[in-house]
Amino acid sequence: MRCFWDEQQRLHAPATEFFNGALHPAAEHPGRVDSILSPIGPTETPQDHGLEPILAAHDPAYVEFLRTAHAEWLAAGRAGDALPYAFPVQRRKMALDRIDARLGRYSYDTCTPIGPGTWEAGYWAAQTGLSALAAVQAGANAFALTRPPGHHAGPDYMGGYSYLNTAAVCALSAGQRAAILDVDYHHGNGTQDILAERQGIHFASIHADPRHDYPFFWGHADESGGNLLNLPLPRGTDWRSYEPALVRSLEWLSEGSPELLIVSFGADTYAGDPISHFALETGDYTRMARHIAELGLPTLIVMEGGYAIEALGANVANFLSGF
Ligand SMILES: [Zn+2]
Repeated sequence: MRCFWDEQQRLHAPATEFFNGALHPAAEHPGRVDSILSPIGPTETPQDHGLEPILAAHDPAYVEFLRTAHAEWLAAGRAGDALPYAFPVQRRKMALDRIDARLGRYSYDTCTPIGPGTWEAGYWAAQTGLSALAAVQAGANAFALTRPPGHHAGPDYMGGYSYLNTAAVCALSAGQRAAILDVDYHHGNGTQDILAERQGIHFASIHADPRHDYPFFWGHADESGGNLLNLPLPRGTDWRSYEPALVRSLEWLSEGSPELLIVSFGADTYAGDPISHFALETGDYTRMARHIAELGLPTLIVMEGGYAIEALGANVANFLSGF
């Protein structure tokens, strides 16, 4: 297993996020990677593959917004991280100039702040994924230690701590028939939206039932068919009830005859995760990985969520060891 990481991903360091009616310390912070780096051993520094692969998954105007939003925020006389507070529910596409209107246009929640280093960190997360993809295509399984995460970022929106969707960027620039398995606690709504019109790429997601959990508006069981499979599970799900959903997902993905597997791996399915409600234990991540490895496909693993800092490194290392 080759592992990739770039220090520039630390430049995204949000202070707070807003949910449940209050500001909370940001759950997705650079300290997460310190928990992971030591147990996984040496990492390789990614190469710069440029903007082109990113633009295969994301709208150019959205990418330009990400690059300039924090400068616009400062120019408007604000301090700290940029956060939206008004959203275009009626979905009229209007070209408004005020930074607050632009923040609302390109996002769907108040948990995804843009700071001075957000663009660089997101850009290098995507490059980390692309370099790990190149390693997979050269014959090794590879792990991209990416943050901020990506699977909630859609074609033209950020949300769920995600800005650029590394898994989708890699799938669309692989030049091979890719399949994506998303095992983060939360539904990979951004990946689903990016792949909606791309029938060649199968996307399976196992996640908390969105009737009760974020991101609420995507990932319901009836959003399956074509190249999509959504398997929502109830709060409290442990390995015994998780395993059958995983087996079903893998069978379904293999029916698409993929040449490459991309795993959006979130360790927020862990029993001790502070923002999630499944009950997987550290040893279960090795079991999960063994099932995935049985597909026998070249595999790229992309880091998504996981917020139980004290166990995060062990959970990731156990998952990687299963390959
Ligand atoms: Zn998550």
